[in-house]
Amino acid sequence: MAEKIQENLISLCKRRGFIFQTSEIYGGLQSFYDYGPLGVELKRNIKKLWWKEMVQNHKEIVGLDSSILMHPKTWQASGHLEGFTDPLVECKRCHKRFKADELTKDRCPECGGALTNSKDFNLMFKTFMGSTEDSASEVYLRPETAQGIFVNFKNVLQTSRLKIPFGVAQIGKAFRNEITSGNFIFRIKEFEQMELEYFVNPKNASKIHEKWQKKRLNWYIDLGINKENIRLKKHSKDQLAHYAKACSDVEYNFPFGWSEIEGIANRQDFDLTQHSKFSHQDLVYLDPETGEKFAPHIIEPSAGVERPLLAFLIDAYEEMAGETGKKKEVVLRLDKRLSPIKVAIFPLIKKEPLQKIAKEIFNDLKSAWMCQYDETGSIGKRYRRQDEIGTPYCITVDFDSLDDDSVTIRDRDTREQERIKIKELKLILRQRLDF
Ligand code: ATP
Repeated sequence: MAEKIQENLISLCKRRGFIFQTSEIYGGLQSFYDYGPLGVELKRNIKKLWWKEMVQNHKEIVGLDSSILMHPKTWQASGHLEGFTDPLVECKRCHKRFKADELTKDRCPECGGALTNSKDFNLMFKTFMGSTEDSASEVYLRPETAQGIFVNFKNVLQTSRLKIPFGVAQIGKAFRNEITSGNFIFRIKEFEQMELEYFVNPKNASKIHEKWQKKRLNWYIDLGINKENIRLKKHSKDQLAHYAKACSDVEYNFPFGWSEIEGIANRQDFDLTQHSKFSHQDLVYLDPETGEKFAPHIIEPSAGVERPLLAFLIDAYEEMAGETGKKKEVVLRLDKRLSPIKVAIFPLIKKEPLQKIAKEIFNDLKSAWMCQYDETGSIGKRYRRQDEIGTPYCITVDFDSLDDDSVTIRDRDTREQERIKIKELKLILRQRLDF
C-alpha cells in the first residue's frame, strides 16, 4: 500500500510538472533531478518559509550566501578530506558498488558474485580549477553549506555587531557522491541545504540544543505534517559524527521507513578551533560584558530542501473515491503556504464575456499570488486538476456574475462554494492567504 502511494505520487510529480529526471532525453543521470514549474514553486515556498522562521523572525540571526567551491584547506580543517567517507565494496563479477555497512551477506546482492575488500570512499566531488588538471588545482564541490559559515565567522562578527548567542543561516547547493542513492529524491547527489549555525556560550550549549530540537520539530508540524508521522530521534554515542557531542534527527515516516529529514547537532567548538588552527587566525569571541574569551560552541539545525519536500508531498497526498463513484481522485492537502499555486481562475465556459472577466480577475490577483488561468475542459475536471496540485482556492466566473458582479470561490478541503463580490475578492483572499 505504502509503495503504491509512493509510486502514484512519483507519477503525479512527473505528470503534473513537479519533478523530472535530469537529462531525461539522454536517458537520465542517476540520482539527479530537475524541478518543473510546480516543483520550483514548492521548493521556493519551503525555502522562503524556512528563511522567515530562521532569519526574519530573529533579531540575532543573519543570512549568508557563500561559494560552493572553497579553499581546499577548508576540507582539511573540517575533517572531510580525511573522514567524509563510506565503506565501499565492489562486486568482482558485475562491478556494482555497495556500501559495506548496508549489506547483510558477503556476496553481491544483485548477482551473488564475490565482493572486493571494503575501502574508504570519499563522498566529495572533486574538480579542477584553472587550466591544468594537477593536484595543485584540485577543488571540491562543498558537501555541506556549513563550512562557508564557519570560515566567515570573523567577517560576520565584525560587520554585524552581534553578541552571543547569535546565528548565521544559509541556503544553498551541496553535493555528495553517494555510493547508493535512491528512493526518488530522498538520497541524491546534488541537493540543497538550509543550515543555521548558532554560536553560543559553551555553558548554555546543551540547553539551547534542546530548544532548537523542539522548535525544528514544531516547524514541520505547523506546516501540516501529521504528528504521528514525525519524530525526534536521538543519536546513540556510536552514531555521532566525530565533531558532535549530541545530535537528534527529525525523522519522517516515509513509505520506506522512518528516515532523517533534518539533523540538529551540538558541534561544540570543533569547527572554529580547527579553522583557527589551519588558518592561523584567532576565531574566538570576546564577551564585551564579562571580558571572557572563548571559542563559541555551535548548535546546528541542518535540513535538506528535497527530503522535507518529499515528506510534505507524501503527507499531503490523499486518494479518495471520485464524486461520481468511478475514478479515484487525488487531493494534495498541502498547507496553503506551501501550495505552488494559490488561486485558479476559470470562466465557466470558453466564451465571452466570461473569459474577459476571468482574465481581469487573474490580472488583478497575479501580483499578489501565484495564480493560474484555465478555461479548458469541464469545470469538474478543472477542479480535479487543481486539487491534484494542492491549489487551495478556485474561482469561477459564471453567467450570474454578469448580473451580480460576484464569483464562486471553492475551497479545496471542504469543497464548499461561496458567492463573493468581485470587488471584495482581493481582501477576502488576503485574509485567507497572507500569513
Ligand atoms: P544520511 O545519514 O541519510 O546520509 P546525513 O546524516 O549524512 O544523512 P547530514 O549530513 O546531517 O545528513 O545533512 C543534513 C541534511 O541534509 C539531511 O537531514 C538531509 O535533509 C540533507 N541531505 C544529506 N544528504 C543528502 C542526500 N544525499 N540527498 C538529499 N538530502 C540530503
